[in-house]
Amino acid sequence: MSAVRPGARADLDPARFLALLEQEQIRLQDEIRALRAQDSVGGSVASPGRRELDEHPGDQPTDLFLREQDAALEESIRGELHEIEQAVHRVNDGTFGYCARCGKPIPVERLEYRPFAVCCVPCAS
Ligand SMILES: [Zn+2]
Repeated sequence: MSAVRPGARADLDPARFLALLEQEQIRLQDEIRALRAQDSVGGSVASPGRRELDEHPGDQPTDLFLREQDAALEESIRGELHEIEQAVHRVNDGTFGYCARCGKPIPVERLEYRPFAVCCVPCAS
């Protein structure tokens, strides 16, 4: 445990990045809410009497497919929300902005574009 602990980066304003992270968090939570809303509107539990509107009554592979896609999308959004939480922790403990892999500082431009980035570009690719 001889971890080099460089301390919080002087060139990053923690408050600014916390705000960016919070913004991103709100945006993603809205996306999840939108997905959910879509689901409940398009839910196929609807009364069978409305089926005359469908070109293919009976099975609805498209609906099912879309719902699975939504689930996958929500899953990935949840993953990002988790990354954001981790980033908030890093801001608070002064390790924010350092690559999790090589320990080098992540360029500010990358952090502004992707405030929850865990690795620098070379390590992420
Ligand atoms: Zn790196």
